[in-house]
Amino acid sequence: MKIAVLKESADGETRCSAIPETVKKFSALGASVAVERGSGQGASMSDADFEAAGASVGTRADVLKGAEIILCVTGPDPASLKGAAKRALLVGALDPSRRREAIDGYAAAGLDAMAMEWMPRITRAQSMDILSSQSNLAGYKAVIEAADAYGRAFPMMMTAAGTVSAAKVFVMGVGVAGLQAIATARRLGGQVSATDVRSATKEQILSLGAKPIFVENVAGIEGEGAGGYATEMSAEYQKAQAELVSAHIAKQDIVITTALIPGKPAPRLISNAQLASMRPGSVVVDLAAEAGGNVEGCVAGERVEKHGVTIIGASNLARSLAADSSALFARNLYNFLSAFWDKDAGKLVLPDDDELVKGIRLTRGGKVVHERLA
Ligand code: NAD
Repeated sequence: MKIAVLKESADGETRCSAIPETVKKFSALGASVAVERGSGQGASMSDADFEAAGASVGTRADVLKGAEIILCVTGPDPASLKGAAKRALLVGALDPSRRREAIDGYAAAGLDAMAMEWMPRITRAQSMDILSSQSNLAGYKAVIEAADAYGRAFPMMMTAAGTVSAAKVFVMGVGVAGLQAIATARRLGGQVSATDVRSATKEQILSLGAKPIFVENVAGIEGEGAGGYATEMSAEYQKAQAELVSAHIAKQDIVITTALIPGKPAPRLISNAQLASMRPGSVVVDLAAEAGGNVEGCVAGERVEKHGVTIIGASNLARSLAADSSALFARNLYNFLSAFWDKDAGKLVLPDDDELVKGIRLTRGGKVVHERLA
């Protein structure tokens, strides 16, 4: 089977859907890999690196010709895939909720499009989960950005000229990104507290050496929540949460928000009045900026200042760690495809009734087939 690796074309995209390591692994399965020229540039990988791993390097038309599998990070414009074989598999972060027209375009071109972000969150699929691999890096980078914008140090330092006190860091939303933000802020020497609506996160917060700050008088989500995800909270819970945040936030130097609810706008967790209660020079990083933002007045992709507080509307932070985010993304793709590789036949076999295949297959035989897109 021939696997094509596309050079990314989305604005600001630095990642690549393959790395030399996955090229070698695909070759070991008996596949041939063709990488579009310049694909690895944004992630410090040269064409020569891919060639040394056994890939051929060529133009878009070269790599698409005869390819049965096409790999990408962000979904390409369907018009840019002219020359791709019908029934070729297009696999990547295709963003089906926001790019419906493109998905229709893939169907019209006869491609079988598969959206990796819809991978079911079950144990078997953990190593294929692009949301987790990219969120983890984003959580780390959010703290680094906060540290950079903060005019003080993170760790406590006792010096001859006096003591520098530790930064107080509050993480709101303790999913994959939040957990990594807590761990990173702790490593930098911050004094960390964190909150979530799911009660299962309390123990995780404690195990990372941070302090859980939870709404006590109104019940949140018991345990993990459905599929590990949160739902929208009642008006009563929201009110109690707002009171809790108001009391806590004025004493914080850095706040990292990561709260998301699948299929809904991000919950509003910090109001303008709460921002005004923070000490000037404080920093808020909103990782939910693209989904509408957890923080009032936050602008995705921008840094704004309000009441002397810097608000960073974090957008696609994984892209700023292109080498690592490419490596994890590429391995997610390899782990998915290799799990369905028939070694005797030397090809990919995707059973129609498999939970993972059903979860991510968007188009087939010229039609959009996913139930969430019906
Ligand atoms: P997410 O990105 O959907 O949300 C981030 C966090 O925000 C979640 O912890 C959520 O509970 C929290 N949140 C939502 N509304 C909130 C509010 N109003 N106030 C405070 N917090 C709020 O979540 P995620 O990072 O994708 O992960 C969610 C869970 O899924 C985690 O427990 C993770 O370990 C689990 N998970 C499981 C698998 C698997 O088994 N394959 C893979 C990935 C993640």
